[in-house]
Amino acid sequence: MREFKSDLAQELAGIRAQGLHRQLCEVESPQSPRINVAGRSLLNLSSNDYLGLADHPRVKEGAIRAVERFGAGSGASRLVSGSLSPHFELEEALAEFKQTEAALSFSSGYATALGTISALVGPDDFIIIDRLVHASIVDAARLSGAKLRVFAHNDLNELEARLAWAAARTSTRAHSQTPRVPRILVVTESVFSMDGDRAPLREMVELKDKYGAWLMVDEAHATGLCGTSGRGWADAQNISARVEVHMGTLGKALGSAGGFVCGARELVDLLANRARSFIFSTAPVPAAAGAAIAAVRLVQGPEGTARREVLQRRIGELREGIATRLAQEPSAGGMATLGFHGSSERRFGGKSDAAESAIVPLIVGNEAEAVRLAVELRERGVFVPAIRFPTVARGQARLRVTVTASHIEAEVSEFLAALALCLRPVQA
Ligand SMILES: *Cc1c(COP(=O)(O)O)cnc(C)c1O
Repeated sequence: MREFKSDLAQELAGIRAQGLHRQLCEVESPQSPRINVAGRSLLNLSSNDYLGLADHPRVKEGAIRAVERFGAGSGASRLVSGSLSPHFELEEALAEFKQTEAALSFSSGYATALGTISALVGPDDFIIIDRLVHASIVDAARLSGAKLRVFAHNDLNELEARLAWAAARTSTRAHSQTPRVPRILVVTESVFSMDGDRAPLREMVELKDKYGAWLMVDEAHATGLCGTSGRGWADAQNISARVEVHMGTLGKALGSAGGFVCGARELVDLLANRARSFIFSTAPVPAAAGAAIAAVRLVQGPEGTARREVLQRRIGELREGIATRLAQEPSAGGMATLGFHGSSERRFGGKSDAAESAIVPLIVGNEAEAVRLAVELRERGVFVPAIRFPTVARGQARLRVTVTASHIEAEVSEFLAALALCLRPVQA
């Protein structure tokens, strides 16, 4: 048998050689516009805490009160004795928020995708996903054993081709002893996590109906941010009622932790019976549910509206500042390909929802170059993550810049000034 440590060390050396090695970075402060790392205060442009709720007094109060009333731990899985009042209260709040019959919460968004998809489709079924969907959906699709097809990012023609392919196989199926008709499940994100662009949900809903498929929309980066009261992109597109499975996370704009599915009562009942990541896992802690309840209420109230407005202002300043900066340095050597999705954003614009995504990817391409830029920005006091394979495709490395409603305009300027200094040496 090979030596354990040296075997792993060799694999790690391979990861390093590709510029893909990652390290955990200890943050010594709450998630906020500025974070303390290694004793230094850095401007934080890396967080998914888009509305600044992770450290919000009312959300913290929700967690504290839940701990005081229900304790630190849940003690058992939801189906045993772990289903505490805060879990039900959260699920009622989520169903009301998303205007669906019911909701089910999970311990994370990752667990939500894994449990939901593998409960809905199996080896006799079909699953069709956008090429850029989150790893949790890819892993879930594989775990389910369903026949998997991928369509090019937001490409409706390819989606239709995949749907036609699957539909032809569900209708000509020979074995009559199959207990049910094969299912076709289409899964997409609404706002894409690493690009910040959006899925053409209205057209996708038409297509899935045409071929008798179901649609699952992962609103991880839209929940709390767009649509009426922050309900999400499906709401902004006016097609919520036609989406079979609404998924989201409580860990991003909602500032807490956990994941959820909203939809029909039958969907929630089936998941409670079939979703293994729900069944075989201890119920989320009361603190997480308590914080999420407070956050779901907050995003629908006047403060939610106000925070979304501030966020849109910051996003506008950031996008405009970057566009101006890039226009000034057209010959910036390796940065010539540095681009961001500033213009395609409104291509699928909802009838009334012009909200821009808070995710601004600066595509660098080369992995080592992206890391070099991130390191240099950090030396200049700005924390922006370099996103590399396997989070994005090889050669698609990027700086993923995110602003939140808690940032002030001067902080956006601070970032733009630091970015300008980092871009300069590349020209030499
Ligand atoms: C973050 C994310 C998840 C996972 O959610 P967690 O609550 O962080 O586990 C799922 N889907 C997408 C698109 C995400 O960005």
